[in-house]
Amino acid sequence: MPTNKARGRVSLVGAGPGDPGLLTLRAAELLADADVLLYDALVGEAILARAPATCERVFVGKRGGDHAMAQREIEMLMIREAAEGKHVVRLKGGDPLVFGRGAEEAQALRAAGIPFEIAPGISSALAGPAYAGIPVTHRAHNVAFTVATGHEDPGKAASTLDWAKLADPHRTLIFLMAAAHLDAIARQLVEHGLSAATPAAIVQDATRPSQRTVVGTLDTIAGAAARANVAAPAVLIVGEVVGLRAEIRWFEDLPLFGKRVLVTRPAEDAQAFASALLACGAEPILAPVLVIEPPDDPTAAASALDELHEYRWLVFTSRHGVDALFAQLRAQGVDARYLGGVKIAAIGPKTKARLESYGIRPEVTPAEFVGEAIARALIDAAAPGDRVMIYRAQEARDTLPRMLAGAGLLPTIVPAYRTVIVEDAAFAEKTARANVFTFANAAAARAFQTLLGGPERAVAAARDKTIACIGPIAAQAARDIGLHVDVTADTYTIEGLIDALAAHFAAQ
Ligand code: SAH
Repeated sequence: MPTNKARGRVSLVGAGPGDPGLLTLRAAELLADADVLLYDALVGEAILARAPATCERVFVGKRGGDHAMAQREIEMLMIREAAEGKHVVRLKGGDPLVFGRGAEEAQALRAAGIPFEIAPGISSALAGPAYAGIPVTHRAHNVAFTVATGHEDPGKAASTLDWAKLADPHRTLIFLMAAAHLDAIARQLVEHGLSAATPAAIVQDATRPSQRTVVGTLDTIAGAAARANVAAPAVLIVGEVVGLRAEIRWFEDLPLFGKRVLVTRPAEDAQAFASALLACGAEPILAPVLVIEPPDDPTAAASALDELHEYRWLVFTSRHGVDALFAQLRAQGVDARYLGGVKIAAIGPKTKARLESYGIRPEVTPAEFVGEAIARALIDAAAPGDRVMIYRAQEARDTLPRMLAGAGLLPTIVPAYRTVIVEDAAFAEKTARANVFTFANAAAARAFQTLLGGPERAVAAARDKTIACIGPIAAQAARDIGLHVDVTADTYTIEGLIDALAAHFAAQ
């Protein structure tokens, strides 16, 4: 931990309403620089993960109605850590100054002489209506909006909200902390002159895959919300603008809205998939099951290169093989020109793209992303008697070499890397929370069942879940374990899988 006292300061940062895409750039910057992170219950894992691994994380929010830490204790802790020279990030849901006690914390910091800054966040007061398709203003309807608390300080003798002023039909009313008081709020507004037919909506878990919106009128909203079991956190919106939702709702209509998707790909591959899922309204749950490591015998991969000039073809069955080969070339002090005398085949578009990133254009790339297709394409392009080096995973299938040998080619397998199962203590919990499991390849499906403790447990964990696989080989591996496969992407890419999932849910 740094001891430079000049560094000591506090950043009061808004985390936004939940969707990690609604974190501001400034908040992301401050998080990346944090030594200590104090966070509340509504801040999600994807946002917390932006703080460095070395950052100390302290949960100070409410859990089950109890505060993990009293407000004064939180303030003392911030002051103490900052005084020791640490950059403390105090992360709050939404905006720190909108019913977030950020102002009290800033006052305490000022009194203690601790430097601070405030990074505003997107408040649920605005994001909630926006994600429900309800504009807080519209020229034809409401020209002002008011954000109020629906839950006043229980210590207060009488309400300080001026209900007579609030009951203005030209103004949109937005209540936070209102879920448990809908009946009282609606009653007050009607008593003070708003029509009982005024449209009202409540949005629970706004901007998250679990978002739910219940629409009614001041007369009906409390009952409708109770029937739908609406609970905190929720935003109540009252006003004519609620009617516009019918026309401009969008988030809940995204093709994968509400799906919690287990992503089992290796961490470095998962990012693009996770972003694509978020864009479709799904929540990605990152649970990499495999990691790439050097093979048991790294010397074999190295010495194979010494003999490469005796081969006519070099075949890659994944981009990891390409990376492993270029790491070898680098280690041996040579570069891509070393491959000048050999023809190159790649199993599919990803492997081809990886080769191209190293300046290599493969002679053969089959359209289909399975071993059989590359074997056929290679057999067509090669001549009998050609020697073929297959630079691939230690544990790969034998189909490709067998087919090549059957066609009179002379294949040699070079085990270039190893895929190893990742231990993750939270894996079972992640699978329980997900409602869609995805497997990009057979190894991922097998690792999944190993991590859960065998096929029976894997089948039990998959009950009532949707299982989606990229390609028939991954699907077959999943079936061999006993899993039901609901979706198989026939374009073997992330986009292909997302389209197939969307089509599956659209048909339901
Ligand atoms: N500073 C926060 C508000 C804190 S008060 C902000 O600007 O959003 C806590 C209240 O915020 C909750 O009771 C609820 O009314 C609202 N809230 C926070 N996150 C929410 C979400 N994702 N969906 C709906 N309401 C939310």
